[in-house]
Amino acid sequence: MSQDTLFDKVWDLHKVASLPGGSDQLFIGLHLIHEVTSPQAFGSLKDKNLKVKFPNRTLATVDHIVPTDNQSRPFKDNLAEQMIATLEKNCLEHKIKFFNIGSGNQGIVHVVAPELGLTQPGMTIACGDSHTSTHGAFGSIAFGIGTSQVRDILASQTIAMNRLKVRQIWCENKLSNGVSAKDLVLYIIQKLGVKAGVGFAYEFAGPAINALSMEERMTICNMSIEGGARCGYINPDKKTYDYLKEKLFAPKNNDWDKALNWWESLKSEKQAVYDDIIKLDASKIEPTITWGITPGQSIGINQTIPSKLEIHPDDQLIAEEAYEYMGFQPGQLIKNTPIDVCFIGSCTNGRISDLREAAKIVKQKKVAKNVKAFIVPGSEKVAMKAKKEGLDKIFLDAGFQWREPGCSMCLAMNADKLIGNQISASSSNRNFKGRQGSPNGRTLLMSPAMVAAAAITGRVSDVREFIENEK
Ligand code: SF4
Repeated sequence: MSQDTLFDKVWDLHKVASLPGGSDQLFIGLHLIHEVTSPQAFGSLKDKNLKVKFPNRTLATVDHIVPTDNQSRPFKDNLAEQMIATLEKNCLEHKIKFFNIGSGNQGIVHVVAPELGLTQPGMTIACGDSHTSTHGAFGSIAFGIGTSQVRDILASQTIAMNRLKVRQIWCENKLSNGVSAKDLVLYIIQKLGVKAGVGFAYEFAGPAINALSMEERMTICNMSIEGGARCGYINPDKKTYDYLKEKLFAPKNNDWDKALNWWESLKSEKQAVYDDIIKLDASKIEPTITWGITPGQSIGINQTIPSKLEIHPDDQLIAEEAYEYMGFQPGQLIKNTPIDVCFIGSCTNGRISDLREAAKIVKQKKVAKNVKAFIVPGSEKVAMKAKKEGLDKIFLDAGFQWREPGCSMCLAMNADKLIGNQISASSSNRNFKGRQGSPNGRTLLMSPAMVAAAAITGRVSDVREFIENEK
């Protein structure tokens, strides 16, 4: 009887060869590329007179550096113009499908591929962006890669990798009202640490995971990389198939039935053997916010910033660095911390469901004086849906800026940046020093609904109080 996990099955199905040195050569079913990590890779291909091996397994869009205010060409930023023009040229030359601005399908690469049905169970997926783990929400094995690996995949559609161990993270019970997938994943990273996942694939399972929507599952898998895991995944189920059905690139007619049978066969076996199992109780989690400079430095909304003594000895040095950089004191409550900027967007939380949750909080209220608040939809499709539902109007009426799709303040490669030591409430995934564009800017990661609540009060707030008031 098989004791394989989904990870084992997908890995074995895609393994081309064992390589000297112990790694495996793995076939990559879908390669997603964007403007920032692909130019050098195409340059290397040209130097070696190579062609893209499987253009039909490669898909391009633009997200990292695109401006979100004025997208008319040429862009004001020369570098952005140059990068996008280079991608346009490379895609044309190598016959790669390219979802450019205005195509109706442009957006953050990890938002676009699932919404088009390109991301499917049992696939191996790679992209030159760390948060490629997002696609694991569909039961695929998805890796973020560097530029030299982008080159390797363009040239051979394969990658050399060491096989990973598998840790199952079993989430018992259900999340309480007002607590989201973002809170759950921040809690997991806080409990296990940012390096615990090194050498592992994370399998998220249990009743709390089963209860999540596909978009919430993407938030969980998106941030598995922040816990050190090379990838994260969730076994496919009816929700996965319902989400995929009728999507542009999903299998059709007989192919759909065949695909369903195959996807079902890929699930981790009941008797699957894991290298490690962690169990946690999702019902105990409250809205969670980072207070430091790694996604592992987080606390519940009603908790105080931990003292050094409450922190594991291995993490005390980075905690000291965080106190100093963030200007927080141990013992200080995170609740009511004043906020300068609010950002709702990114591949973690820039999907339509995130905008809907945030809009519920913001409706008929006003953004606090002195707070600059942005909504940056994850894709053109998300923006279109939101407009159709009138969400843009709700945000604009409240005083938010409504922007065009892109990565924006997740990494601030474009003009959307913090200034000085501003504090940002952000629905993105990284709170590293300087991540949002100012060398001393400060980022508090939280759920999109929590960002919305902070935008209204001008302070870190408990979104559950808003929900209570609505009853
Ligand atoms: S939103 Fe952030 S993490 Fe996601 S693809 Fe863009 S830069 Fe990477």
